[in-house]
Amino acid sequence: MNNQGISYHPLPKIELHVHLDCCLSFEAVQKLDPACNFETYQTKFVGPAKCADLNEYLSFAMHAIALMQSKEQLALVTNDLIDQLEADNVIYAEIRFAPFLHIKDGLQPREVVETVLNEVTQRCASGKIKLGVILCTLRSFPVELSLATVELIALYRDMGIVGFDIAGDESGYALQNHLPAFLKAKSYGIPITAHSGEALGAQSVAETMRLLDPDRIGHGTRSFEDDVVLNEIINKRIHLEVCPASNVQTNVIDRLSDHPVTTFKKKGVSFGINTDGRTICDTTLNKEWEALSQTFGWGLAEWYEASMNAIDHAFTDYETKSFMRHKVQMAYNEALK
Ligand SMILES: [Zn+2]
Repeated sequence: MNNQGISYHPLPKIELHVHLDCCLSFEAVQKLDPACNFETYQTKFVGPAKCADLNEYLSFAMHAIALMQSKEQLALVTNDLIDQLEADNVIYAEIRFAPFLHIKDGLQPREVVETVLNEVTQRCASGKIKLGVILCTLRSFPVELSLATVELIALYRDMGIVGFDIAGDESGYALQNHLPAFLKAKSYGIPITAHSGEALGAQSVAETMRLLDPDRIGHGTRSFEDDVVLNEIINKRIHLEVCPASNVQTNVIDRLSDHPVTTFKKKGVSFGINTDGRTICDTTLNKEWEALSQTFGWGLAEWYEASMNAIDHAFTDYETKSFMRHKVQMAYNEALK
């Protein structure tokens, strides 16, 4: 219960930005590597309160990726994340990962995607949660892998793959290199999101909009530095996948109270709240909502708006959106009684 006397836990939540390889629970890691005790887990899989930068943050995912190289491992990690989403009362999530990070031990990229999709499909059939999967390329990858990722999306689009993303080291590798892959994704009509405005400032967000013409931007945090960029986000109706705890941890901002999310709100930018990496950031959506409510005095009205914004911009069909809107509406009607 927070200072407004509301429990956010039972409220239905939407999460559009969560990485499969940043969310391994201790229980999952223990099954994958029985030699790993809790102290080692805390050191290798959970990030410190402050990383020096985005690259230090990303280094924590590498330990998880090493344990996600077989079908059995991928299936276990996928179910582990879905368990966490359900426990957080997430009714719809888009889980993202880069298939080419999981072929080190000989899996074919198609097998990687099919394994994750099989688990996602089975869990969706249980009726508790609806899920989509976004495939990522990384800035550090050669363009050939980005192009191959787009072909995988095209191949599995009818089976639950919903979009294309670029993640990784924003300051070290040029976006321009991946342009052919994004043009191809556009030509296939694949929805696009892109990490931007974390390690670099508003001009990186401007470049992302100019080159990729994305539907959504992952983070976009530093777009607050330039009103022209913010106005372009608004005019193009681009949705920001805001991940507050992650932004504090990667040093994009000092403290949560410095987060530009209130500026986004004042200006009328569409945004939702996400965890990014539940394990690396040691967070849940419930924790994010509580922290933002405490810091900015937000209540039900703000969470209703953020949830509806996320639904509007989810990479899913009209029916699923209508179902989610109805579910959110009913829950808030009940909470306001
Ligand atoms: Zn991310």
